[in-house]
Amino acid sequence: MNNYVFIIDTNKQPLKPTTPKRARELMSKGKAAVFRRYPFTLILKQEYEPTQPYLELRLDPGSKFTGFALVNPKNEVIWTMELEHRGQQISQSLTKRAGFRRSRRNRHTRYRKKRFNRSKPEGWLAPSLMHRVQTIETWIKRICRYTPVGTITIEKVKFDMQKLENPDIQEVEYQQGTLAGYTVREALLEHWKRKCAYCGVENVPLQIEHIKPKSKGGSNRFSNLTLACECCNQTKGNQSLEDFLANKPEVLHKIKSHCRKSLADAAAVNATRHKIFEIAELTGLTIQAGNGALAKLVRAKSNLPKTHWIDAACNSINEQPIKLLTYQPLIVTCKGHGNRQAIRCNASGFPAITIKPNKQGQKIVSTVKPKQKYHHVKAGDIVNVTLKKDRKHIKSGTYTARVKTPTKTGVEVRINGHRISSNLFDFVHRHDGYDYSFAEPLSI
Ligand SMILES: [Zn+2]
Repeated sequence: MNNYVFIIDTNKQPLKPTTPKRARELMSKGKAAVFRRYPFTLILKQEYEPTQPYLELRLDPGSKFTGFALVNPKNEVIWTMELEHRGQQISQSLTKRAGFRRSRRNRHTRYRKKRFNRSKPEGWLAPSLMHRVQTIETWIKRICRYTPVGTITIEKVKFDMQKLENPDIQEVEYQQGTLAGYTVREALLEHWKRKCAYCGVENVPLQIEHIKPKSKGGSNRFSNLTLACECCNQTKGNQSLEDFLANKPEVLHKIKSHCRKSLADAAAVNATRHKIFEIAELTGLTIQAGNGALAKLVRAKSNLPKTHWIDAACNSINEQPIKLLTYQPLIVTCKGHGNRQAIRCNASGFPAITIKPNKQGQKIVSTVKPKQKYHHVKAGDIVNVTLKKDRKHIKSGTYTARVKTPTKTGVEVRINGHRISSNLFDFVHRHDGYDYSFAEPLSI
């Protein structure tokens, strides 16, 4: 079965969500109209008694996905959603921009000393992390606006970073990191037995080498470091380990077993967990802290597989198993709102377009947009595109897709990874920074 449908009355007060069947009935009898498509919400044409808040919104914040689930007092899950974050993309594009600016300053301005009196305001989080907090806030508010939510339960996880690195860690060892009593260099010399890790040469000056190159985001953690002779270090350059050791599988295996899993995801969740609680408290609803171990127990009792939305639904404060009334979550992907760059850059940070001179020989960038017939559609809007004939890779039919580019002759969308242009389309949902789809229904 699908997600329940949100209902608001004519004064936009949230009422009890209803089944898709009942929602179709309300629409066919003319008692309700579609208010918004994502999340699917109906507006009734009459005023009704306000509904007492009775639903519980359960959240499972993760580093790449956050699960949402609405649960009624009988522990039945009536609505679910997965929010896909874009922290990685934000971090990458900001790093790229910083690089462009740095090289531009080098080209155009005199040298200036680094300034040290800069400080970050208290509670500051990196943009990629703040984005997680803010998109979760948007969705908590949005769900509370259309449903009578009374309680919010958030899984309050704190990853034990040291335990993730070393599962057998005990007592004092917590206070002594990986390098207790050593400097990095000595620890490495001992760990790699004073040999070059790549060619095995001994009794030569050894250099500290990053397994995942620093230029590609490799860290200075002990598990990302090796020792290499100058020759190997130079040859490896900024190649990845797999490329460099493509024809030495044994050495590759040995070094890979030394590398440990990245802790970036765990760190992202740790850093944002307080902020997410703070913003949830601002809603004025009752906030409960869930517990990972209990959620796991509930999931095992309910006999359900592990997905983000099921994890959220199991995030209960008692041991009762849950019952699913919906098997298909709404997938919401963060897409951002584009950028404000006037001229795109190529890989080296130089302007990527060449401006052709006009007939008088002047180089003019036109700021007047050509007249568009379909001016009401913007990039990011969601539309229903109808294809009358089969295209090269796509069969005829109606598809719901996000507008990639509005063109003079219609819209350009991406369907199953293929670019399609069409002028036969209906408007569905205004651009709000997200893309929407539905997951494959869970088969139980
Ligand atoms: Zn070597």
